[in-house]
Amino acid sequence: TQRPVKCSGCGIKLQTEDRELPGFIPESAFNREPVICQRCFRIKNYNEASSVSVDQDEFLRLLSGVGEKNALVIHIVDLFDFEGSLISGLQRFVGNNPVILAVNKSDLLPKVTNWNKVRNWVQQRCKEHGLRTAEIVLCSAKRNQGFDRLLEAVSELRGQRDVYVVGATNVGKSTLINRLISDYSDLDQELTTSRYPGTTLDTVKIPLDDGHYIIDTPGIVYPWRYSELVHRRDLDAVMPVNPLKPAVYQLNAGQSLFFGGLGRFDFVQGERQSFTCFISGMLKIHRTKLERADELYANHRGVMLSPPAADIMDELPQWQRHEFRIGRNSLSDLYISGLGWIKINGTEGAVVAVHVPRGVKVLTRPSLI
Ligand code: GDP
Repeated sequence: TQRPVKCSGCGIKLQTEDRELPGFIPESAFNREPVICQRCFRIKNYNEASSVSVDQDEFLRLLSGVGEKNALVIHIVDLFDFEGSLISGLQRFVGNNPVILAVNKSDLLPKVTNWNKVRNWVQQRCKEHGLRTAEIVLCSAKRNQGFDRLLEAVSELRGQRDVYVVGATNVGKSTLINRLISDYSDLDQELTTSRYPGTTLDTVKIPLDDGHYIIDTPGIVYPWRYSELVHRRDLDAVMPVNPLKPAVYQLNAGQSLFFGGLGRFDFVQGERQSFTCFISGMLKIHRTKLERADELYANHRGVMLSPPAADIMDELPQWQRHEFRIGRNSLSDLYISGLGWIKINGTEGAVVAVHVPRGVKVLTRPSLI
């Protein structure tokens, strides 16, 4: 039998030589039904295309021009790594276009969370970052929570606009877009040239039924997140899957906590008080004396203090120490991007420190919960 010459999706002439040029199809794909070019295949199987990621500069370049367009922007952030996944400077790029902030992974917070407080907290952080939001939606792509509200907000604000979806890697963007696709378009039903103009591999344009588009931008790689720094094998250990079980430690000054072999917290100075760790349940916490902590790490890293395991330990940058002075009566979190946070419960003030791979973003903030 003769094999097809044209892509049955977009009609382009098929070629097997250059995967960078239009019409490319891998040999093996001729056995698939329908026979479509790689680009159409990617659009159809959206999740493959959505795994494209870029650095910040590249992203801002892609996004430049959105400010002059009539667009609705959905910025999706990860509640577990809020400061690490928020695109700072987004406001400058979106101009006067409305922004919906979808705060994903809300399922990770404990069930008894005060959601009004969380919402106010998010609002405050946005204010600090100069981000005006038309709507803040707490959601869980995984549990399918908050999506109805999100879709409602999209309908309310969209008008005749294209919808840009922006976010860092691993925030749950693909999951969210798949949901938008299934609600707004009949992508599964047909693929024709006219419906996919200007599709590029770095920005995926998904046609909606009304002639407008959802524009999925690549996930931004922020190098300060543990989720970007750790070895693939350890990703499951740092990114929690189940709701966080806050681990409370009563500590005296001069005590330390190890988070597996990924980081360390020191209570340097202050009255005996409790600290609540919000980190993945997959990471073992070891308590020790501060004065013994260096030695313990030197002797047990990669084994008792793991992950990372010994064979991949050296792939992480050297640890760097960050010290913080917590004021009186200031309920604070010591936040570590992509690893979680430690809530400081005392009201008398404290001096604390963390040791994390160089480059990891660490900061104090008003406590989230
Ligand atoms: P993308 O890189 O932003 O497109 O994110 P993905 O949709 O691929 O999700 C990244 C990771 O986060 C995956 O391991 C998902 O299982 C997980 N994830 C996505 N949404 C949620 C959520 O609502 N809650 C939790 N706990 N995990 C989520």
